[in-house]
Amino acid sequence: MTTNALADRECAPGPRPAASAISDSELARLLPDEPRYRRDQVRRGIYDGAARGFDQITSLPRILRERLDMALAFSSISPDRVRVAGDGTRAFLFRTADDTIFETVQLPSERGTATTVCVSSQAGCAMGCTFCATGTLGLTRNLSAAEIVDQFLHVRRESRAGGAPDRIVFMGMGEPLANTANVHDAIEALVDPGRGGLGARHVTVSTVGLPAGIAELTRWPWQVGLAISLHAASDDVRATLVPLAKHVDLATLMASSVAYQRATRRRVSYEYTMLRDVNDHVGQARDLARLVDGQTCHVNLIPFNPFPGAAYEAPSAGTTRRFRDELLRHGVAATIRRTRGREIAGACGQLRADGAIWRRRSQGAAPARNVS
Ligand code: SAH
Ligand code: SF4
Repeated sequence: MTTNALADRECAPGPRPAASAISDSELARLLPDEPRYRRDQVRRGIYDGAARGFDQITSLPRILRERLDMALAFSSISPDRVRVAGDGTRAFLFRTADDTIFETVQLPSERGTATTVCVSSQAGCAMGCTFCATGTLGLTRNLSAAEIVDQFLHVRRESRAGGAPDRIVFMGMGEPLANTANVHDAIEALVDPGRGGLGARHVTVSTVGLPAGIAELTRWPWQVGLAISLHAASDDVRATLVPLAKHVDLATLMASSVAYQRATRRRVSYEYTMLRDVNDHVGQARDLARLVDGQTCHVNLIPFNPFPGAAYEAPSAGTTRRFRDELLRHGVAATIRRTRGREIAGACGQLRADGAIWRRRSQGAAPARNVS
């Protein structure tokens, strides 16, 4: 069955391209002599099966599996470790071909059996938000589209026995709208019925608030959700939390959010991490209600997740409820996000991947095991 393109790829120097990064036309070029149904089998094996390598796609002839394995990397990432919290939250530490490490979190659903995968778009983050563990790391590099897609595919393969994910949120490490090209390509693959098969409405991109990125996302052809991390209703307070706020004020950010709402007719979610004595006063809830007045939006209040060395604390549950109630009283839809996976430091937006948490926790009470 030797095909020239596949043979060329087998002999090509350098790392093999990841299978999930290969488009339909590239796959057709790699396998010009194979019938369409064969290519569909290859696709299904990569995207939709329990196989962890080409050798396990038993629907394919052995010789084709071997040749694919020489030409392509089945996955661009390999699992280093996984940690499981008592509430079912699972945190994965992944390693790339160049030894970059980053985290992915699988969150149990509040509604049923399906789960949500919280993916990283970058290893580390350049934004430096002062309450964010990832922000303390700085940026290592952008993740490729394949490295993003493979996070979801890995979790889905590992969940075949139950709790398979049907949602994806870009709330792991990094700022997705500082890596728009790769995030765009990853979403394109994830919502393609022949590949990831996810509903676009089941994809949410969370941003610290980059107006150019929001404008770009507005032009994307899919109905993906947008979450904007606000954390404060005044420029002064926001600037102490989000360094970007010194360059992008709230008026500019609200203008780009409203433009998104008008163009897409979709609701925006505002993420608001609750920090004791910083942004949790009832008066600040009123300021927030004024800021988003007239918008099609929803406010998600996230109790601060502490991490070693953090300069903040979470407010009491009562303070958080009073803040929410004040928003509701002013006609703003608001909910308090349930804190999950706290004992494994595995909640979204609390990822470090610097080894410290993984090493320390693995010596402690929380269960940890190697999966590789
Ligand atoms: N960079 C993007 C997406 C990743 S952060 C963004 O900032 O939106 C995902 C969410 O987790 C953001 O809303 C962020 O503000 C929140 N977050 C970060 N650190 C947190 C912490 N320690 N406790 C609670 N929420 C946190
Ligand atoms: Fe980056 Fe988001 Fe963390 Fe800010 S909150 S440092 S943008 S990951």
